[in-house]
Amino acid sequence: MIPSPYMNDDVHSFAYDTARVRWPKILVQCIDDLSLLPPGSDVQWFTGKFKELLSAIDEDKEVQPFTDDEIKLNPSLKAYNDQLTKGMTWKTGPWLYLECYLYQHINNFFISKSIDIDIFQNLKQSTLISSKLGIIELCKKINEFDFGSIKDEDKLIFFKEFIDISLWGNSTDLSLLAGNVTLEDIKSIQGAETRKANEKNILVNGTNDIFDHLSKAESPVVDIVLDNSGFEVFSDIVLAIYLVETKLAEKVTFHCKKIPWFVSDTLEKDFDELFKELIAFDNQDTAKFVDTVKSYIKQKKFIVTSDDYWTSCSPYWTLPENSIYDQLKDSTLVIFKGDLNYRKLTGDVQWDKTTPFETALQHLKGKINVVSLRTCKADVTVGLPQGVDEKLKAEHGEFWSSSGKYAVISFTAKD
Ligand SMILES: [Mg+2]
Repeated sequence: MIPSPYMNDDVHSFAYDTARVRWPKILVQCIDDLSLLPPGSDVQWFTGKFKELLSAIDEDKEVQPFTDDEIKLNPSLKAYNDQLTKGMTWKTGPWLYLECYLYQHINNFFISKSIDIDIFQNLKQSTLISSKLGIIELCKKINEFDFGSIKDEDKLIFFKEFIDISLWGNSTDLSLLAGNVTLEDIKSIQGAETRKANEKNILVNGTNDIFDHLSKAESPVVDIVLDNSGFEVFSDIVLAIYLVETKLAEKVTFHCKKIPWFVSDTLEKDFDELFKELIAFDNQDTAKFVDTVKSYIKQKKFIVTSDDYWTSCSPYWTLPENSIYDQLKDSTLVIFKGDLNYRKLTGDVQWDKTTPFETALQHLKGKINVVSLRTCKADVTVGLPQGVDEKLKAEHGEFWSSSGKYAVISFTAKD
């Protein structure tokens, strides 16, 4: 039986705080950022819409179905109405559904006026600039990396390094590669110790199995279902370069969102934004890195794409019923990045934390080769050994799973 979802009125869930504190903050920021609207836009109308939404949440109003006009403009909203139950309110309804609904609702403001902007653009840019030094160091390292010189027996050590970079996304200090170290340092005992220290917060770690799986595959192709733009997508590209250069992947497909999503998620245009910003750093290493990535895109070693499915409200166990499944089922490895993808993989329901990852995937189990690289920022976590949840609760309190301090690298191969 599938447990019930995490709900916004559960004081023991991170949902409670999200609906009451994080969402209003994001909406207020959107009002501030209406300066992004093209000249001549009706700023007052947009301000009114955001204020209306703010008060609907604040007053815990019933969530309304999307209108026929809205569905005409965005047919994917019909599925939202199908799942909306009578009497669902902002502060009491299911967290995952309502959070997705919120971003679709915001998107409607803009599409109803035929305005194509990313209202979160300012927030996205600031995260990239704050990682500038880490990015320059990492670009230098990639540019100088002699991938051909990596012996077969060392490929796993570097694979772990690159997985770590992508896993922790914006925590540059956690990565050996972003620091002032040589290839020899990474292979050294000291490097192994640093890695071990980083790994203690990875509660489930399937990295060795993932490496084995990729190494054995013939003509491997990898798909990455992205999470955030800025430093995080940069770190995913870095991982993808390693995969292609070491022949662990012949091709990597990056899956983006189609609409501005959960503030910082990657849209296709965010690749261009990233390139622009890396070039604006006015640094030869970041410029060379951009040339490399662009040439991979040109050679079709990297594909950047998007699909409506990633902004639906459905758990990923509905994936086999969707058209994008045809592509993913043939992939050697589908890497789901980040917290939201993990919530959707597991349905964001209250699984006991020892539930096997495969069980939590429901109908997706055995259908595709799934990897989740996730820093834990929400309640749901599965696949833990007996006693770990209790231990972490005793040490860090009941919100350890949403603290961002821990991570999981969960892997399951298809049947
Ligand atoms: Mg995100």
